[in-house]
Amino acid sequence: MKIIMLGAPGAGKGTQAKLIAEKYGIPHISTGDIFRANIKDGTQLGREAKEYMDKGLLVPDELTVKILLDRVAKEDCKDGYVLDGFPRTIPQAKVLDAALCEIGDQVDFAVNVDVPDENIIRRMGGRRACLACGATYHTEYIPPKSEGICDVCGKQLVLRDDDKPETVKNRLDVYHKQTQPLIDFYQEKGILKGVDGTVPMDDVFAAITAILG
Ligand code: AMP
Repeated sequence: MKIIMLGAPGAGKGTQAKLIAEKYGIPHISTGDIFRANIKDGTQLGREAKEYMDKGLLVPDELTVKILLDRVAKEDCKDGYVLDGFPRTIPQAKVLDAALCEIGDQVDFAVNVDVPDENIIRRMGGRRACLACGATYHTEYIPPKSEGICDVCGKQLVLRDDDKPETVKNRLDVYHKQTQPLIDFYQEKGILKGVDGTVPMDDVFAAITAILG
């Protein structure tokens, strides 16, 4: 099963993608996570991506498409995967379609997690991340046991540069301009499924599993 998660940054698609991956035994592939791992490792790709990410802009398609196609060509993807944060532009979606078409395959579901902008802004301001181990928290919804400290590794939690209010605003603008058109793109293909992302996490997941079967 090949699934694409759509939704604004902060809509909770990453959380849902992880749950889907666990339930259906398929890899969770997040282009954002791949970029962040590269930034942490100090690679050339990481240095290039960071310049865009810190401003709330999309990393150019040439860089993004290559890492995604390399990743889905790996052995663990042969029975499917859930993509979180890719595609984010129509050209990215077309490249993925073409690559799948070449192997006689296609995307099965595009799940849109719908959350209005006001909710997104409130959610993202509360996000905290551990840059050491990658764990994520929320001051309101998933607080760490001790304020500002990672439960997993004990390091200091931070508000990621790309979750800062001015960057969030840019990311939402970018989302509406560049990513939202994908909703129509997958609607036309007949594989778009919408879920309300404002309800509790478990209810969002129940709605998704009712769709995926
Ligand atoms: P995410 O963790 O999915 O919210 O991604 C964080 C940031 O990584 C985004 O704001 C973009 O700058 C970059 N990024 C992740 N996925 C993509 C993509 N498919 N295309 C372009 N940029 C991306």
